[in-house]
Amino acid sequence: VEKRQPIPKQNLRVPGPTPIPPEASEAQTAPMINHRGPEFSAMMKRITLRLQYFFQTEALVMTYPASGTGGQECAIVNVFSPGDHVVSITIGNFGNRMAKIAEAYGLQVTRLEYPWGEAAEPASVEKRLQEVAPYKGVLLTHNETSTGVTNDIETLARIIRKHNPDALIIVDAVSSLACVPLEMDAWDLDVVFTGSQKGWMVPPGLMMIAASPRAWEAYKTAKLPRFYFDWEMTRKSLQSKWQHPTTPPLSVLYALDVTLEMMLEEGRQAIFDRHQRAGEYVRNRAKALGLDLLADHQYASNTVTAIKVPEGIDLKVMLKKLREEEKTVFAGGQGQLDGKIFRIGHLGYFTEADLQSAVDNLEHVLHDLGYKG
Ligand code: PLP
Repeated sequence: VEKRQPIPKQNLRVPGPTPIPPEASEAQTAPMINHRGPEFSAMMKRITLRLQYFFQTEALVMTYPASGTGGQECAIVNVFSPGDHVVSITIGNFGNRMAKIAEAYGLQVTRLEYPWGEAAEPASVEKRLQEVAPYKGVLLTHNETSTGVTNDIETLARIIRKHNPDALIIVDAVSSLACVPLEMDAWDLDVVFTGSQKGWMVPPGLMMIAASPRAWEAYKTAKLPRFYFDWEMTRKSLQSKWQHPTTPPLSVLYALDVTLEMMLEEGRQAIFDRHQRAGEYVRNRAKALGLDLLADHQYASNTVTAIKVPEGIDLKVMLKKLREEEKTVFAGGQGQLDGKIFRIGHLGYFTEADLQSAVDNLEHVLHDLGYKG
């Protein structure tokens, strides 16, 4: 095996994992504590109540050692039974993943697919939902990280509710929560989940999920197999002792305890505004370079921007030059967009200078490669 190398310092501009603030790095080096002791309970209570504020919900936010995909699976196994009909509204790779999980668990899944780079269009969703009814739930992606598109969840949820008041509305908010507005209770969403490595400014390893009273009602009769992700086990531990039924990733929680405090200091609306400015900045700079954006401006994401690879540019060469010469890391495309787009993450912990230098570096590299724009 090769000798271990130090992890390089880079301008990491992928849509998760994101850079973390020094205060969060520092917090992670604290000694381990007993996860059945009073220090842990005090921290877990504080974290949970603050997560509720960012989820904009009265519901208990449950925290699992898992990634975003765990959130998709956790949502599905707790509210559905084999053979249940669900509608999966997909606009990209992560929406498709949730549909695949539902299929793997034996649900009957109707996919309403939209072209990658577009949002789910409310009028056509309304029409299709009526055609495919009855259905027990709808699976939605708030921010499709693979395409840089944000769905209008408020409008989509209102349409679903109008036709099917009992529908379970499941929202993947992995790359949007705490970055762009999402109001779980006001929009009457049933299950919402997110992942620590996105807007929360901490490392990967934690998944956070909340369930509405309607989802908890569904939980009582849901028959899909579940154990690790069983909500009741987690609810009981949290509500009786502010603990977790299994061993929690303490160092990620230490970091989250710190970043939630930073986020409260910055203010929820100020965080949304900062992401809005970031989205506009990256989109405007890309357009000024003559690059084409994948998403239309009306639904372009404020956490990740997908840019089409210009004619004559070899994406692999461009990303390698950026990484090796400019210490700037962008993400490529996924699935059908592999080789066709690259993505710049602008969520969580970043300054305007980080984004400016990332796009400046992109500009140098493109010109080195003969791009005329
Ligand atoms: N859903 C969305 C919207 C995502 O962006 C991601 C990851 O980027 C996932 C789900 C899957 O998360 P993970 O890779 O943490 O399992």
